[in-house]
Amino acid sequence: MPRAPVVARTLPSLRRTLESLRTRRATVALVPTMGALHDGHLALVHQAKRRASKVVVSIFVNPTQFAPHEDFGSYPRTWKADIAKLTQAQVDLVWNPDVGTMYPAGFATRILTEGPATAGLEDRFRPHFFGGVATVVGKLFTQCRPDVALFGQKDYQQLKVVTRMAADLDLGVKVIGVPIVRERDGLAMSSRNVYLSTAQRAVAPMLHRVMKEAAKRLRNGGNLETVMADGTKTIGDAGFALDYFEARHAETLAPIRSLKDGPVRLLVAAKIGTTRLIDNIGV
Ligand code: AMP
Repeated sequence: MPRAPVVARTLPSLRRTLESLRTRRATVALVPTMGALHDGHLALVHQAKRRASKVVVSIFVNPTQFAPHEDFGSYPRTWKADIAKLTQAQVDLVWNPDVGTMYPAGFATRILTEGPATAGLEDRFRPHFFGGVATVVGKLFTQCRPDVALFGQKDYQQLKVVTRMAADLDLGVKVIGVPIVRERDGLAMSSRNVYLSTAQRAVAPMLHRVMKEAAKRLRNGGNLETVMADGTKTIGDAGFALDYFEARHAETLAPIRSLKDGPVRLLVAAKIGTTRLIDNIGV
């Protein structure tokens, strides 16, 4: 049985443990998560182990990236199972601050992100989101001072926002994107999938199917407007309330008019019942 990771819950304890990990030539990878770990998170951990000699996973459900009507209170928290998975994956350190440690009384600073953070995708429906993400990730980077940090392509716009922020603020962290891990039927793994009823779970993989079909038609020369309109209709007909289904430039996230403006990424966000799912695919 591998050794359980050290768990740090205070900044002095985090610093002490990081110092002991940073022996000569050691490099540190950080995998930021909100817990409720699944194979998508573990793919980030495996990449982290390949990229650095020591791996830190943060587990922090960050209140500042949730709007008041969102699911901060009910977000799944599965501490014991998470630690078992991270032990198996041979993670060195778990950084698990409480909200008061991350945001002490009087906390009054927020990182304002533009560029990919104002592309009109997630930001249009969750206007508070990237401010909260950038602030907490900025803090996690300065707290842990990792050499590399791993983020999932599942949250594609977030990956671009964090990459931009790390470069813009000279944080000295190389941000690496990891491909989406899916269930066998194509549904992108997500901590929020546990909210789905059996009937909703059966419909949910439709999002990936529609994107795959759209990407294929586009690659085969299909007309962008027609393909996207067909996909939009199929998603609506399946019972989703669609936030967006869009073709964007894969790097800048700017809108595109044809495949020639690419590389192209299709991005989707839709609600099924009260659960909001996001996904994306390269064309
Ligand atoms: P979360 O705990 O949902 O905030 O996610 C933590 C990190 O795991 C983020 O970088 C996510 O993009 C990544 N992630 C979540 N789900 C997946 C997945 N299915 N495949 C790859 N990465 C994922």
